[in-house]
Amino acid sequence: MLKNYTEIAVTEVFDEVLNELRKQNPEICSCERCREDVMAVALNRLPPKYIASDKGEIFTKVSFSRVGGKAEVIAALLHGFELVGKHPRHG
Ligand SMILES: [Zn+2]
Repeated sequence: MLKNYTEIAVTEVFDEVLNELRKQNPEICSCERCREDVMAVALNRLPPKYIASDKGEIFTKVSFSRVGGKAEVIAALLHGFELVGKHPRHG
């Protein structure tokens, strides 16, 4: 099956970035809708990196060099949190 490795990398650092941001701003929402909106913004800013994998294959250690570096992924997520924080779309 096809997987977007960028998505795996973004998912991997999501909570790390969220926890960092919460130190400054404990109010940051992490409901399902906001999580997905932040992820969508981040993923739209990063180039996709499709890989074929066996069904159910689990990537225990994400190789950030495959997606342009961890700093790039974090920067994209920070942009997502900023945007969604200003314009949350949850009900
Ligand atoms: Zn929310």
